[in-house]
Amino acid sequence: MYFEKIEQFGNFEMGYISDFSGGYISRNRNLFEKLQLSKLTQFILEKSVFGTPIFKLGDGGNKILVLSGIHGNELSPQIANVNLLNELVFKEFNHTLYFIPFASPKSTMNNERTFNSMDLNRSAHIKDSLSNLIIQAIVDLEIDFVGDFHSTAYNSNPGFESIFSSKSPTPESFLIANYIARDVGSEMISIDYAGSSYKGAVEDVCNLKRIPAITGEVLCPFGNVARGSVEKSFSQMESFLSYFGI
Ligand SMILES: [Zn+2]
Repeated sequence: MYFEKIEQFGNFEMGYISDFSGGYISRNRNLFEKLQLSKLTQFILEKSVFGTPIFKLGDGGNKILVLSGIHGNELSPQIANVNLLNELVFKEFNHTLYFIPFASPKSTMNNERTFNSMDLNRSAHIKDSLSNLIIQAIVDLEIDFVGDFHSTAYNSNPGFESIFSSKSPTPESFLIANYIARDVGSEMISIDYAGSSYKGAVEDVCNLKRIPAITGEVLCPFGNVARGSVEKSFSQMESFLSYFGI
């Protein structure tokens, strides 16, 4: 994958996962009105028109991905991820951080769970699906750890604030989930073997490839932003990074 250095924002680079998933994020008013419109945020939105951008900060150490927007109508984690990028962009650390704030800008624009009727968290194992292209990038970039951040509504699955992981075949995902759950007070949900309850979740496909991955869920109605839910998702992301000393 080709990464372009963006001098304007220090040690910041970007590339594209795909060129067929772009969208005008600003058309999602529920999300847009909650964004802090910094120069960096505007840059991210402009780049999201042409596909799914991936951003990179720092060099060396572990390669860590913070992912959100796998479900386009789960707004809080996408806002939190943009806020996290804004907070970290001019900082120094001994690791390489990757960010995909909008996995499917088109779905986010339309405030839709799916991308072209496909649930991206049930299709990461299907070759060349949009979430499979994210998996391919994770493998190509040799990313070591993945945090995938979602939101969940009452009466949906799981329906409460939580961190998902599995014990096998990649036990470190369980350790990371346990760390975050204790740190921020989220419930811990762990299955014995990745992908055993359903197929194609980004987290499970990573764990099956021996890349430790967790899913964070905060409580929020779909298509909307509940009070405090952006901050909660942000603390799950911060806690994920703090596991690595960031
Ligand atoms: Zn989700």
